[in-house]
Amino acid sequence: MKVGLFPGSFDPFHNGHLEIVERASRLFDEVVVAALRNPQKSSALFDLDERKSMLEAVTEHIPGVRIVSVSTLLVNVARDVGATAIVRGLRAVSDFEAEMQMAQMNHHLSGVETIFIPTSSKYSFIASKLVREVAHFGGDVSAFVPKIVAEQLVKKFDGKKANDGDDRNDGDDGDDGDDGEEET
Ligand code: ADP
Repeated sequence: MKVGLFPGSFDPFHNGHLEIVERASRLFDEVVVAALRNPQKSSALFDLDERKSMLEAVTEHIPGVRIVSVSTLLVNVARDVGATAIVRGLRAVSDFEAEMQMAQMNHHLSGVETIFIPTSSKYSFIASKLVREVAHFGGDVSAFVPKIVAEQLVKKFDGKKANDGDDRNDGDDGDDGDDGEEET
């Protein structure tokens, strides 16, 4: 059985990511989408459990997709899920250098191959960081992310505003969702 492992921060998961999952699902018997904690990205908007739930909901229609969320080295996940190859999306040449380095490191560490899927031009400008920024300022992100993700973004930023405006309480009871809290 051929297993593709598509790892990422997915904070949040957007339509560019979704396209890669759909295309990878035609190449592999199973695609494992792994929401990872990226140590390079200091604090996440959605915690790993939130990202996993959203991923499950938005990939429900694609056969052979499984979602995991992990806080470990990618090659360990690849070994655990029996990955035939790691799948990564490429938006532009600017992605290539870092992706190439990561692919070589992962191959060196474990022998696992990486395959790159070039994104279609209609999604190539979408990045999680931009989606977060637009949503933060109340912009409409519905063209860039699945509906469920758009709804969660609105909730998240509404909640943040409410929390920011209500700092007089003990400040210790809330589920504020981010602040770099430990994720499992
Ligand atoms: P990471 O922290 O691993 O870079 P991301 O969530 O930013 O995680 O990206 C996960 C994967 O999705 C990467 O392979 C990235 O190149 C790819 N990707 C990101 N944005 C797009 C897009 N617009 N179209 C296709 N692939 C994308």
